[in-house]
Amino acid sequence: MTRAESRPAPQNFDRVLSSMCTEPHPAAREAAVSFLADNPGDPATYPAVAELEAEAVELLGDVVGLDDPHGYVGSGGTEANLQAVRAARNRADGDVNVVAPESAHFSFQKAAEVLDVELRLAALDDDHRADVDAVADLADDDTALVVGVAGTTEFGRVDPIPALGDVAEDVGANLHVDAAWGGFVLPFTDHDWDFADAPVDTMTIDPHKMGQAPIPSGGFLARDPETLDALSIRTPYLESDTQPTLGGTRSGAGVAGAHAALDALWPAGYREQYERSWANAEFLAEELEVRGYDVVDPVLPLVAADLPDSEFEALRERGWRISRMAGGELRVVCMPHVTREMLERFLADLATVQ
Ligand SMILES: *Cc1c(COP(=O)(O)O)cnc(C)c1O
Repeated sequence: MTRAESRPAPQNFDRVLSSMCTEPHPAAREAAVSFLADNPGDPATYPAVAELEAEAVELLGDVVGLDDPHGYVGSGGTEANLQAVRAARNRADGDVNVVAPESAHFSFQKAAEVLDVELRLAALDDDHRADVDAVADLADDDTALVVGVAGTTEFGRVDPIPALGDVAEDVGANLHVDAAWGGFVLPFTDHDWDFADAPVDTMTIDPHKMGQAPIPSGGFLARDPETLDALSIRTPYLESDTQPTLGGTRSGAGVAGAHAALDALWPAGYREQYERSWANAEFLAEELEVRGYDVVDPVLPLVAADLPDSEFEALRERGWRISRMAGGELRVVCMPHVTREMLERFLADLATVQ
């Protein structure tokens, strides 16, 4: 075999039920390839990709109810969450803390460690959402940031964002919403989660998850320009004066891919996708319940159910890419590549291992 023949092929999505990423939209894939060598981190040298980034941020503003958005397309949710903590810390004095629900993504732990701030994790209510009283109990005068999650990684829950906004206002903290995964489905639901619904200061929304953009494509958005100012560093050898991003050289493919996906899909395409994904989640939840499994009622297109270890392992052996949560439950994310036919094949395989 030649080296090319033995090279691993990219993942086939036929049996991927555990991922929060998906196959990019064809237009996004094409745009990514053509902007592979452009560096949005150097806008004076690469003005075209810088223009696409500004347009992508405007489009993201439309998705999250913000008329005049400030932000950029970065490497993903981890970077955006870290930047939210960093902006809040830089705008406060002295030692500060961040209050987040226990369901917050592990990237906040990385952020706390890198930025040397205290992370206080609040208990959840009995539906896996942030308990507002528990958050209020942990918040104090040194709290720089209150975090709410709109679409939790484990159960797809939406925290009570307006109530968390009240807590943040009471202690003079910023409010950050982590909608890394949920941001492209929530506009089509009744949840209160965005800049128009609550005094949100910053938000994470990842085009490379439900947004059907290629990796790496993350979104960091702020209501006020002062937030980006708090992140800005002087850049002596570039023609542009300052840079609010964490990365220096950044992915032109990610920026152009995000722009192309948003341009092609917002809003009608994302709405159709949400409706398909939601119908699939309801279908799967019902079919699992009928088969006798304990299912956590889905709120967004993510289904969690109790599955014995032996059945889980047998399905993995059949090639199903499934994952378990901290509590052991099976978790199926109904991403755009997850079709009804695929779920039917999964249920048929489940029947044989039951
Ligand atoms: C995936 C995810 C993140 C992390 O995003 P990356 O792009 O993987 O860095 C943060 N928060 C939530 C809610 C997520 O689902």
